[in-house]
Amino acid sequence: MKEWALDKGGFHKVMAYTSNIDGHWIEAGFPQDRVCEIHGSVRYLQCVRGEVCKPLEAKKKKEREAEEDDDEEEEEEDYQSFVWPSAGVLSQMKLTERQDSITEDSPIPRCPHCADLARPNVLMFSDWRQVDPRYTSPAANYGHLWKTIEDEKASFCIVEVGCGIDVDCVRNHGELAVRGTDGRGSLIRINVAHSYFPPALAQKPEIYVSIPLGALAALQAIDNLIKVSPSD
Ligand SMILES: [Zn+2]
Repeated sequence: MKEWALDKGGFHKVMAYTSNIDGHWIEAGFPQDRVCEIHGSVRYLQCVRGEVCKPLEAKKKKEREAEEDDDEEEEEEDYQSFVWPSAGVLSQMKLTERQDSITEDSPIPRCPHCADLARPNVLMFSDWRQVDPRYTSPAANYGHLWKTIEDEKASFCIVEVGCGIDVDCVRNHGELAVRGTDGRGSLIRINVAHSYFPPALAQKPEIYVSIPLGALAALQAIDNLIKVSPSD
């Protein structure tokens, strides 16, 4: 999919919108600001106190501002510091032999601002403490891309990969995006068990394309078709 983006002239016409929390889009080479990880990422940690921790940092910042001038960019940077990469922190933890828990003397990840516990920066169910400043820039880009599509009345295609029906927010998001676009948009639904569409949409298979395959097989098949007929 990265190659498809590059073949179309770059990532400015492409966004990944995902509820996955594994960070694989970015690891696969998508720029971070082109990936909307709507449920966060296990590759980042945050304070268990969430936004409540922020005033503590703001207080420290105010103290610093008494000595030096500040600007909005630094404020953004400060907010960014409320999540931090998990890799370096987790590698310091000591695991038991079974590797399924930590030893009693293992260091525990802590918030660098208030020293309370750290937690994965992912959205849990009924989770009001998740903060995700990483989401701000991709969300703005995502909104801008949709505005451009609307302004230019451009055609577009959503490739939906493995979106389940239990937590179906991404699934619904794609359907809603394509509805009402007068055929300019299409939605390819790749899903081994649930590639079907609601009856009203299933009547338009030229727009709502169902592929009951695994992700890799389906994407490779599409890739082969693109290579055979690369014009559009
Ligand atoms: Zn904290």
